[in-house]
Amino acid sequence: MISIPESVEDAIVNLLRLANTKLPEDVGWALEAAASWETNEIAYSQLGGIMDNVKKAEFMGRPMCQDTGVPVFYVSGKFDASIEKSIRNGVRRATSEIPLRPNTVHPLTRENPGDNLGDGMPVIHYTPTDDDHTEITVLPKGAGAENMTKLVMLNPADGTAGVKKFIISTVLEAGGRPCPPTVVGVGIGGTSDMCVKMAKEALLRPTDHVNTNDDERKLEEELFTILNASGLGPMGLGGDSTVLRVHIKTAYCHTASLPVAVNLNCWAARRATVRIMKDGTSRYGQW
Ligand code: SF4
Repeated sequence: MISIPESVEDAIVNLLRLANTKLPEDVGWALEAAASWETNEIAYSQLGGIMDNVKKAEFMGRPMCQDTGVPVFYVSGKFDASIEKSIRNGVRRATSEIPLRPNTVHPLTRENPGDNLGDGMPVIHYTPTDDDHTEITVLPKGAGAENMTKLVMLNPADGTAGVKKFIISTVLEAGGRPCPPTVVGVGIGGTSDMCVKMAKEALLRPTDHVNTNDDERKLEEELFTILNASGLGPMGLGGDSTVLRVHIKTAYCHTASLPVAVNLNCWAARRATVRIMKDGTSRYGQW
């Protein structure tokens, strides 16, 4: 999309603008698919309102939701320690230039620095690789969906039935608060911290990418069917479209453990990626 040299700081501003103003195409298709099978009149009109809002946001270059979330970054490829400062500067500038809602506060005093920064913010995950470019993906997480996150350390004897029960109850108990239809990110296995991390990473997979693991794909499809038959519907007002997709990510775990985590993305399932080449040129996308 853009092929002129620019700083990482500029790239972060452009990345946050793209993520907040343009819904990834695959999420738009998933919303259209949901509208095509929706039989509830109110739910159908809710989906229509959401899609209308998405089109207007893109056309006007304005955020698609008033809650622009907290940005979670995934940095991979080649980079050095200076990248953190560039990302932080980019977030500060994006907050005033786009603008983004200043969402970060101290957890106890609730003091708001006004720039979406603060100790530990923004969240940045690093994965160095042998590539000669740097790839940065952002996942803006709104509080409505993020607040519904749950982790459980099941007994291994609970098995797949216990895993399903936990995922279903988590989505249904969340009700309309995460602004359904949601994308359900699920982590299964690992350690407790890794499991929660995987649940969020599962949201990075485009909704039209099929899980290559047969067992996980079958479980995703089964949960998708059960959750959409629940009747919760868009915004929790009833209907056939409660979830757009269920995405599962797994890792091996201790033989005495069975961690399961759920992290939801609302209908505004925002994400964007920039690849910065070694000559400083950048390519943006929502792949
Ligand atoms: S959950 Fe998503 S759609 Fe709902 S208010 Fe938050 S960011 Fe917006």
